[in-house]
Amino acid sequence: MQKQKSIAVVGSGLVGSLLALYLKKLGHEVTVFDRRPDVRKVEFSGRSINLAMSNRGWKALEIVGVETEIRKLALPLDKRAMHVNSKPLYFQKYGKEGEAIFSISRGVLNRKMIDLAEAAGVKFQFEEKVWDIDMPSAKLYTGETEKGEWEEYDFDLIFGADGAFSRIRHKMQRQSRFNYSQHFIDVGYKELRIPANKDGSHKLDNASFHIWPRGKFMLIAMPNQDGSFTCTLFMPFEGEISFESISTEEKADDFFERYFPDIKDEISNLKGDFFRNPTSAMVTIKCFPWTFGDKVALVGDSAHAIVPFYGQGMNAGFEDISVLFEKIHKHNDNWKLIFEEYQNERKLNTDAIAELSYRNFIEMSSKTADPDFLLRKKIENRMGEKHPESWIPMYSRVTFSDKPYAEALALGERQRKIMDEVMEMDNIGNRWNNQEVEDRILELLARTE
Ligand SMILES: Cc1cc2nc3c(=O)[nH]c(=O)nc-3n(C[C@H](O)[C@H](O)[C@H](O)COP(=O)(O)OP(=O)(O)OC[C@H]3O[C@@H](n4cnc5c(N)ncnc54)[C@H](O)[C@@H]3O)c2cc1C
Repeated sequence: MQKQKSIAVVGSGLVGSLLALYLKKLGHEVTVFDRRPDVRKVEFSGRSINLAMSNRGWKALEIVGVETEIRKLALPLDKRAMHVNSKPLYFQKYGKEGEAIFSISRGVLNRKMIDLAEAAGVKFQFEEKVWDIDMPSAKLYTGETEKGEWEEYDFDLIFGADGAFSRIRHKMQRQSRFNYSQHFIDVGYKELRIPANKDGSHKLDNASFHIWPRGKFMLIAMPNQDGSFTCTLFMPFEGEISFESISTEEKADDFFERYFPDIKDEISNLKGDFFRNPTSAMVTIKCFPWTFGDKVALVGDSAHAIVPFYGQGMNAGFEDISVLFEKIHKHNDNWKLIFEEYQNERKLNTDAIAELSYRNFIEMSSKTADPDFLLRKKIENRMGEKHPESWIPMYSRVTFSDKPYAEALALGERQRKIMDEVMEMDNIGNRWNNQEVEDRILELLARTE
């Protein structure tokens, strides 16, 4: 048993509410502050993003004892449905039999997590923005405006779970030797919606993650339990085909008709959303340290926001909680040591998933039309199918295991070097599926073991 502490969690998003529930279950007094109104009391706006939950997310939920409850809200997706122009729809299994990612609405999940935390005794203070903290004394200051009157609170510990543009991190940034970087990509995203059929059924296969890859831009769609799909259109902000260039209803019509003909019937709906819903930016944020003595720690996006091309942001944030759990069990009341080990272990791994997510973005946006890249993928897929024990696809390693992200990155590097050599083989384009090529890869694998 840990000695009871009075703990503040700043942010009632997915990571903050899971952490609050976990700390409450450990016997602490927990207060969560959020600058926004209670998400359970506001109507969902057009931004009903849904997320892919995978192994790391489920593991953390299991540790906190809420996995079964949350599974009821999720739909398993065991394959990608590829809507490639000029080809019939085809499916790609994600992993082995029984492996799937799970589509879950961020809003629905967040509401449920807050319900569960509140039922366990966590106190929530909504519409209360945190403006400042005093790190050595774990004092926290809230108020209506930055220059107005502030309320002062005393805590033993403060967790910053306040997202990518964290106020708590901002405070930490003012220390000497605090490293920080942020990088926005030149692609934005917009959420669109495909409604359910009249009888409530889904308009597309509801056990698939749908992708319409179009080179510099792409559309994805994940099913919701109410029969609808949430789609996300990723596209450059500026340029020939871009959010900026689709400036009229007519241009939007042309765009959807031309690039997404198989969802023609939904075009008026998609077009409507296109002009109604905001275009949002995506950022990678890295920083270090994540903690201050035994008083303050960052979790989730506030410590490591990443671009969403591996579907791992929330999963990585939930994994922070699994690692905290492990360190708490190891070091009991020694919060300084808990925080130190937590940040050192996590930093390495969240940097790795940031890198992998960014690489996936580059692959999707610039390499999908490159013949060498496509040949590489064909050879790799063949190896994965014929030798699943020696050639583990990166996606499976990241998504269906809880092995450290840094190991997945290292594995990817090793496979990349092997493929560089294979691509140098004479006439590889014509003999890519020969036994000789396969033997060469196995030999290189054995050599680099
Ligand atoms: C397009 C897109 C798709 C994604 N898809 C996936 C996916 O498929 N799988 C996946 O795992 N992840 C995905 N993610 C990432 C995922 O959404 C985030 O990693 C996750 O929501 C982060 O949760 P969080 O609790 O750390 O932060 P947030 O959800 O940002 O919550 C922060 C909370 O802090 C509050 N707050 C902020 N400042 C203050 C303050 N000063 N005082 C009080 N409260 C404050 C905010 O109101 C908010 O409620 C995606 C992200 C995007 C953008």
